[in-house]
Amino acid sequence: MGIKHKTRARSLWVINYFTACGFIELLPWVGSGYDMERFGILAKGSPRHADVLIIAGYVTKKALPRIKRIYEQMPSPKYVLALGSCPMTGGMYWDSYSTIKRIDKYIPVDVWVTGCPPKPENIGHGLVMLMKKIENGFEGH
Ligand code: SF4
Repeated sequence: MGIKHKTRARSLWVINYFTACGFIELLPWVGSGYDMERFGILAKGSPRHADVLIIAGYVTKKALPRIKRIYEQMPSPKYVLALGSCPMTGGMYWDSYSTIKRIDKYIPVDVWVTGCPPKPENIGHGLVMLMKKIENGFEGH
């Protein structure tokens, strides 16, 4: 494990795209309960200052171009974490006329967090998985 990957993994700057209920489950990480800053994870307000994109919940066809635009605006190396069954399979909206079924057909996803919605503990597990992946040499996109 190189120092570059180790330090990068310990300083993740996150931008969130919350389309749905996943937001509520992530909130304990923003607050003092789980406190993601203890893990070196900071929430950012601009994609230009972020290296991790979290997509929480279903993705509508209307929202998709915005998500792609946010991803394109992020500097490299960048990483993507998808929360919940919806961005993975369509979830309970799998036959909806207005949602997409798999976000990784449009942008790469590095960690999937299962659940409907995923529990805060699962989200933490996903963040740690991403940190370990980067520590082990994953270069991102
Ligand atoms: S995965 Fe479940 S909780 Fe999350 S947006 Fe889809 S239906 Fe809602």
